[in-house]
Amino acid sequence: MTAWTSFSGDEVAALTRGESFFVAPGERDCPSCGEHRLRAYFTAPENARRPTLVSYVWCSACDKFVGTRAKHPDGLVFSDPLAVLPATERRDLERTLTGFLSHLDHLWDTGALPQTFAA
Ligand SMILES: [Zn+2]
Repeated sequence: MTAWTSFSGDEVAALTRGESFFVAPGERDCPSCGEHRLRAYFTAPENARRPTLVSYVWCSACDKFVGTRAKHPDGLVFSDPLAVLPATERRDLERTLTGFLSHLDHLWDTGALPQTFAA
């Protein structure tokens, strides 16, 4: 099992620079190891009180990650390969962060990710 660790504060700050993931959703350079293996997944939780965007950014090479919650940008629409899962299955998947990240990484390897975005 992959031992995921957090990006440092400087690395997270570096993630916010450069082109938006919504414009260029492909892999990009990792701010920690430099490999072109940085990946992202976005989801909009249905049970949030206000429109929320949850993002997971991880590196498939050095196994660092960061998860953030932000306001859902107005008008942003995107595909969600996990939306087809029954609620119980999805809850099981999200129960552990490490298992969830490994699943996302697998979805990317098999072509279900990255998502497509439209604003
Ligand atoms: Zn890396």
